[in-house]
Amino acid sequence: MSLFQQPSSDERKPLAARMRPSSLNEFIGQEHLAAEGSPTRTAIERGSLGSVILWGPPGSGKTTLARIIAHMSDAHLEERSAVTCGIAEIKAIGQAAKHRTTKTLLFLDEIHHFSRTQQDALLGLVEDGTVQLIGATTENPTFSLGTPLLSRCRVLALKPLSENQIRQIIERAQHELDITLNDQAIALLCRWANGDARAALNALELSAQFAFPNKSIGEQAVAQAMQRPVTKYDAAGDQHYDVISAFIKSVRGSDVDASLHYLARMLKAGEDIRFIARRLIILASEDIGNAEPMGLILAVSALNAIERIGMPEARIILGHVTAFLATAPKSNAAYLGIQKALDDLDEHPAPPIPDHLRDANTKRFEHDPDETPYKYPHDFGGWVPQKYLSEPNALSLPYYQPTDNGRELKIKRFLQQLDEQK
Ligand code: ADP
Repeated sequence: MSLFQQPSSDERKPLAARMRPSSLNEFIGQEHLAAEGSPTRTAIERGSLGSVILWGPPGSGKTTLARIIAHMSDAHLEERSAVTCGIAEIKAIGQAAKHRTTKTLLFLDEIHHFSRTQQDALLGLVEDGTVQLIGATTENPTFSLGTPLLSRCRVLALKPLSENQIRQIIERAQHELDITLNDQAIALLCRWANGDARAALNALELSAQFAFPNKSIGEQAVAQAMQRPVTKYDAAGDQHYDVISAFIKSVRGSDVDASLHYLARMLKAGEDIRFIARRLIILASEDIGNAEPMGLILAVSALNAIERIGMPEARIILGHVTAFLATAPKSNAAYLGIQKALDDLDEHPAPPIPDHLRDANTKRFEHDPDETPYKYPHDFGGWVPQKYLSEPNALSLPYYQPTDNGRELKIKRFLQQLDEQK
């Protein structure tokens, strides 16, 4: 529709709803689920998917996928939100489903809001196939849902859409609105949307309204729609990656002033504070590790804290953690260790697990007279020499080579002491 015409009733729907793909071929990304020939897509096409929980961030396509599944299987679709749906309603849906000749698909959004009792009300309907349940949640279902329901549903994880995938969605929508965005405006939308297609489309629609009657949209209209200031950093585009790279390298290099400088530049540019905190969490493990184990704890707490606090106060928390991490002793020994162990598995077949370490229930021979019994280290004062790998010579050991830095020196000395007692 052009911005200059009177909208029809369908066109009065938000852009995000109008742009909702109605088939898997229009569905962007999530290839692990939707790519042709993938097991999930094949199951959807054959109508044999069964009940599932779609777990993914907002605007990643959970509702869209549920509607496509319903459409492809010619099912009667009931859509509810677990925030407002009660047990009586679930029972009524079950009753109606029993009298229907077609399959009933129940899409239950925000299923993590359901209490255990409400989940129990669903169990019977799911188990006897009265309804095919598609639950959607932004929270890890392992923690937010009970085992009985989880054991009856497959969990399908959706990923946040990449900037490129958001770009494809935006490009289609420009066409729908009969407008054009300049390159910077598209780049801003894609980056600020943070993997959420709904956020990108809503912002695009608002930008078009702000720019009206102009049909060419620039970054100022996008910034106005997203209520964020455009800075030089945004307009340059690539600087986003350069500044975060310089920030991480300065923290790794223990230059605390440079670290705070780049942090300030990111904050002024309106960088996503969760993105900064997530990068610090990775750095705390990759570059500090056991030289200062508090690093990871503080970085995780920072993410938790800034999500509750938001800006402008989040700057204090990020500054605190940045200063701590920049001035902490550094080690990448644990990071290198896990890399080496993983590489080894690519090159050698995994050796058998020594019998004395195996789970009592899975041991091949109940009473093998040659078997060395497992020694419980605490019975020997906390440590006892014992074999934990059957073929150590087949592996490129040692994996973990602690440095002399910070707390890791203690670990190094401890390992040396054990070596002397072997
Ligand atoms: P969720 O249920 O995960 O919060 P939706 O499926 O409701 O997200 O998506 C919101 C809007 O974003 C949809 O109406 C559609 O326009 C767009 N969208 C989301 N995911 C995709 C996708 N994978 N491909 C194309 N458009 C998408």
